Amino acid sequence: MHISIVNEITSLRKDTLMNKNEILGRWTKQKSEELYGIKNWGGNYFSISEDGEVLVNPYKSTPESAVSLKQIISGVEERGLDMPVLLRFENLLDAQITYINNSFNDAIKKLGYKGKYQGVYPIKVNQQQQVVHEVAKFGERYHHGLEVGSKPELIAALSELNDKEACLICNGYKDSEFIDLGLNAIKMGFKCFFVIEMPGEVNLILDRAEALGIRPNVGIRIKLSSKAGGHWTESGGDRSIFGLNMSQIIEIVDILKTRNMLDTLKLMHYHLGSQIPNIRDIRSAVQEASRVYAELVKEGAPMGYIDLGGGLAVDYDGSNTNFPSSRNYSVEEYCSDIVEAVMVSMDNSGIPHPIIVTESGRALVAYYSILIFNVLDVAKFENYDIPDTFDIEVPEQIINLHEVYKGLNIKNVQECYNDALYYRDIIRDMFNHGHLTLRQRSLSEKIFWSTIYKISKEIKKLKFIPTDLEDLESAIADIYYCNFSVFQSIPDSWAIDQLFPIMPIHRLNEIPDRNGVLADITCDCDGEINKFIDLHDVKNTLPLHVLKPDEDYYLGVFLVGAYQETLGDLHNLFGDTNVVSVRLEKDGTFELVSEIEGDRVEDVLSYVEYNIKDMQVKFRKSAENAVKEGLITPIERREIMTSYDNGLRGYTYYER
Ligand SMILES: *Cc1c(COP(=O)(O)O)cnc(C)c1O
Repeated sequence: MHISIVNEITSLRKDTLMNKNEILGRWTKQKSEELYGIKNWGGNYFSISEDGEVLVNPYKSTPESAVSLKQIISGVEERGLDMPVLLRFENLLDAQITYINNSFNDAIKKLGYKGKYQGVYPIKVNQQQQVVHEVAKFGERYHHGLEVGSKPELIAALSELNDKEACLICNGYKDSEFIDLGLNAIKMGFKCFFVIEMPGEVNLILDRAEALGIRPNVGIRIKLSSKAGGHWTESGGDRSIFGLNMSQIIEIVDILKTRNMLDTLKLMHYHLGSQIPNIRDIRSAVQEASRVYAELVKEGAPMGYIDLGGGLAVDYDGSNTNFPSSRNYSVEEYCSDIVEAVMVSMDNSGIPHPIIVTESGRALVAYYSILIFNVLDVAKFENYDIPDTFDIEVPEQIINLHEVYKGLNIKNVQECYNDALYYRDIIRDMFNHGHLTLRQRSLSEKIFWSTIYKISKEIKKLKFIPTDLEDLESAIADIYYCNFSVFQSIPDSWAIDQLFPIMPIHRLNEIPDRNGVLADITCDCDGEINKFIDLHDVKNTLPLHVLKPDEDYYLGVFLVGAYQETLGDLHNLFGDTNVVSVRLEKDGTFELVSEIEGDRVEDVLSYVEYNIKDMQVKFRKSAENAVKEGLITPIERREIMTSYDNGLRGYTYYER
């Protein structure tokens, strides 16, 4: 008896020690990890420290290499760069290139595939010089090459690619200038392929090749009937606007045969679309494409390369499902499914295993960049103290609304909601027709919103929430005003409702007990983020912390390395953000390897064709006139001109 009590007490004490935080109801970093799903979408690169800060670590096997983002941001600010800042982590790019190449190489080894894997990075996914440079550099040990879709991209690629064994794949429409450049690249030893997208292109390529006396490497882009689901997959299917259908393929083969150039046909390519969430679509496309490849070999083409395009998705919401912002497969599964499908098909036709090429862009660079910004202000939804009697005279309609407020309980939430909306509309009408004063209207709004607030509290106790009331939480969410532009920095969030993981980068050991939506600095109603990742669906609000006086609050938008940087559109003339490249060392230290200052006001104005000198002259004239009219003194004129000039040189975002 005695002993068992002692045992119970000891085990109780152990429990208490282990779960002290749980029992005290304290918020922990584990709860934050779960709430924001960082382990689900972070590709094992991100975690949370004991003191509640987001850590980044490209070295999965050495936890001591992790560095706090907040610490990096402090370093950036100490060097005089303002928020917003785009952080690029070259090690993450390196790690993703390694990961994808190793996954293919492991699958090849495991399955006994006789060919090899050689990826290419499609420049359009992030064309920034630094990015292309680093991909070319880190890719070298795997002979990971580049894919270009235009003349400027080819010109960029030729300056960055040093590895002559890596593929340089040219897609897109090609004029003779483009073709000549590619042919000369072949002469210089580059492994450059011309992928034919349109039947008309082939003769131009062969003509230029003859004229310059250089044998081209020809590829054909095929149109599959396989189609994939998801946001971006317009490129697949019979109606796809890109690629050649089966009769056009035969046409090209015949032209090559007639001109005695069939031996230049070495590559077959397709691109199903980007961010393909379902592995079944990927597999059926590979099967169809492998059959076409085998037939081209039977036609007598040497072939050797099968290029499966992009499409490898990123699990932005961490749900591991076939939801558009996710994927229902792992990178390993993607690689082994592809290798296996190609192998089976080739073995069935008795054809040597080709070199497998993929053009993964998104999966390679998404993790690389994180956008960090500070919160400027918060508009809280207010729950007012509504008195029982009013000190101003009010009409019957407001009395009725007040009755709704007072009589609200868990059983009549829906009815009260309907009534509150009804009276609010009538009261607005009365105001518009001049039957109410501004003070009366203000009082009615307070009662209305307090009613909504009360309803939102009551419905939390319900098992089933009436559909009408489901969105109430977002209606009364706080608005966090943030120092960044959706249009400039995460355009896909605005344009195609893409979801990105967003979370605070510090204070994660404190409870985030507010629900907010984010408004950007453009104050445009589209410059809002009100859809957030969730394991099951989409969330309308993001859990956030109460702002502390005298302390900045920083949020991070993660996985923004792909497609976001060059689609930005200067909305409200907010320009490029500051960009800082970070190199993380194994010992947990970091180095800021390069800082690229964002656009200044004068930069964005000159993009839209203002002449800065003219502007200064014109404004100086206005100021001079104001002096003449006695509105300002000459000394004030000098000060005003100085601040105008400083404004031109300033950052386009909110500066402290
Ligand atoms: C856009 C594009 C890619 C990149 O696709 P991801 O899904 O980002 O990997 C690859 N190939 C071609 C031809 C493309 O147009």
